[in-house]
Amino acid sequence: MEATTAFRTCPFCEATCGLEIVVEGDRVTRVRGDADDVHSHGFLCPKATGVKALHEDPDRVRTPLVRDASGRLAPATWDEAFAAVDAGLSRVIAAGGRDAVAAYVGNPNAHNLDSMVYGPALLRALGSKNVYTASTVDQMPKQVSCGLMFGGGLTVPVPDVDRCEHLLILGANPLASNGSLLTAPDMRGRLRAIRARGGKVVVFDPRRSRTAEEASEHHFIRPGTDALLLFALVHVLFEEGLTAPGTLADLCEGLDALEPLAAPFAPEAVAPACEIAAAQIRRVARELAAAPRAAVYGRIGTCTQEFGTLASWLVDVLNVLTGNLDRPGGAMFTRAAAGSRTAHDGDGRGRGIRMGRWHSRVRGLPEAFGELPVACLAEEIDTPGEGQVRALLTLAGNPARSAPNSARLERALESLDFMVSVDVYVNETTRHADVVLPGVSPLEKAHYDLALLQLSVRNVANYSPPVLALSEGAQPEWRTLLRLAGVAAGQGPDADVDAFDDLVAFEIARRAGADPAPLLEAVAPRRGPERALDLMLRTGPYELTLDDLEAAPHGIDLGPLEPRLPGVLRTPSGRIELAPAPIVEDVPRLRAALARPANGQLVLVGRRQLRSNNSWMHNLEPLVKGPDRCTMHVHPTDAERCGLQDGGRARVTSAAGTVDAPVEITDAIMPGVVSLPHGWGHDVDGVELRVATRHAGANSNLLADETQVDPLSGNAVLNGIPVELAPVHDAAPVPA
Ligand code: SF4
Repeated sequence: MEATTAFRTCPFCEATCGLEIVVEGDRVTRVRGDADDVHSHGFLCPKATGVKALHEDPDRVRTPLVRDASGRLAPATWDEAFAAVDAGLSRVIAAGGRDAVAAYVGNPNAHNLDSMVYGPALLRALGSKNVYTASTVDQMPKQVSCGLMFGGGLTVPVPDVDRCEHLLILGANPLASNGSLLTAPDMRGRLRAIRARGGKVVVFDPRRSRTAEEASEHHFIRPGTDALLLFALVHVLFEEGLTAPGTLADLCEGLDALEPLAAPFAPEAVAPACEIAAAQIRRVARELAAAPRAAVYGRIGTCTQEFGTLASWLVDVLNVLTGNLDRPGGAMFTRAAAGSRTAHDGDGRGRGIRMGRWHSRVRGLPEAFGELPVACLAEEIDTPGEGQVRALLTLAGNPARSAPNSARLERALESLDFMVSVDVYVNETTRHADVVLPGVSPLEKAHYDLALLQLSVRNVANYSPPVLALSEGAQPEWRTLLRLAGVAAGQGPDADVDAFDDLVAFEIARRAGADPAPLLEAVAPRRGPERALDLMLRTGPYELTLDDLEAAPHGIDLGPLEPRLPGVLRTPSGRIELAPAPIVEDVPRLRAALARPANGQLVLVGRRQLRSNNSWMHNLEPLVKGPDRCTMHVHPTDAERCGLQDGGRARVTSAAGTVDAPVEITDAIMPGVVSLPHGWGHDVDGVELRVATRHAGANSNLLADETQVDPLSGNAVLNGIPVELAPVHDAAPVPA
């Protein structure tokens, strides 16, 4: 069989590495880094082999499944499956209206061109206020803070790591994640380069993570206190006359409000809560101020906590106060080739963001960016009354493992009148579905990272055509999504998908402000996501075409990040809002937390692992083989106090639930903190994950309390969960 080589962007994490994939017939025989990729230069991580393993996984759903009279998910034709979806959704909408159908959109959709283009069309057709995504267990606080400050939820400054000389990292482990809200392949190489050119990398984290091990210095910090630390850094800048926003001052509203807001948070005041010496905080602030090019970067640890939006805001307040926002080597805004609403510079003025246009029915939490907090999903299903959710659509998501108090959510899923999932697995969530519509292997579809390239540390564009032809019986995901949109719009199971596609294309052209007719003619005869992408590229800031990208299989380098203020702003004032009212109004809550007495309570945090990405890669043997990685990290002093042994088991109890996990005693975790990775817990009936069930692990989200959220963003509190530990001396089952 003749071997061919294809180049394909890895779809598994935000780093968007270029892969070189050798194929013989329909078999992948080798995956390695694409040395000529303009952004990753050959770098890849162990997860890259997952493209082959996922493609070949016998457990991957390859045909529609419909629950039969015996309660089993049985293979069905596409027509049978869509007829079942039409019947199920129509019944629920007729009885309870459109809000009775909820949708959950999982993280893999952000890496999927089909979903990025057609997912919004499906949600619009559904017309429900009950839309939930993985954003509210991840980065919603950053979207809210950036939305309020800069006018757009994806107007997120990224550290210009390749020119930075001082990088302050909080709650992020880019050596395991390879960047998050930060598209930067080979973060280890990039961090090492900072140090090699005489710069400094400072990490605050309750764990001595892989990133912390690479840093110039690492400080343990008590989970949930990042906002206190960041405010203390702001305090020192003002107190010691170190603020230097430079020309940014002319672009900012609310600069004068910051000093009084920071006044109560002197290093000496926050030190006991953060468990960091005041002198160290002062030194860190002075060094940050003195660095010629510096950036502050906070990620999931700063978001998934009770002060997530405040911490996310303060990260960029520091970037402004030190004059590092929007300058090379600081925190900069990407100019993406396609799909960004701010790629073309304006005069800075825009509508800003709108939040709270509706509220969740039970708890009254506000919507943000068109979605409600997933921490509310279970109660919206299991609380009777008008507007109760009775059906659910999931798109490549596993909220049964990623949402807080997943035990309650699983009970709620089981009680639904109807559920349909688009997914590649029958997992802990989709096992509850009445219909499962298969996604396709990443190798069988085209790829362009519409979302992630908006957060890249370098302006690049990289398109990958499908590596392999669609397998027999498979349906392109975009057609599945549009056929679902037809059902949701009340057009029945056989709606004209191509007419819907034409509408989507027309809308892309219209929104770009162009005359749609000649533009649509120019991209003919393309259809589907490739046509949509071609339209976005042509109307983008570089005026590329898809032909250009097809002729450049290793991507196109569009240069380093360049200053973009004020053109990137979309605030009503046309200025950076440094002290937005909703955020300022939340500061008293943080002041109150400062007054809380330390109680010595053990708290739980998560951790990212290099071979794992949430729950969805645990059925791939190359990534889960070897020692058990779902272990509870416990500091030696806590282990001794709780009577735990290395290699033994611990019973972990929180307000929400109890799990058992193997104990790994390590001084890489700070005293008073324990850590368990999330996305595990595969040992349940009904899943079709033969590998994952052999490496089941413990589900950490049984311990997360769904009532605890960051109030501004609705993001779940998944870090800093109070827990108690006890040894498990026998095989006693975990109490229900
Ligand atoms: S770092 Fe991310 S994008 Fe790169 S190979 Fe690994 S999983 Fe793929």
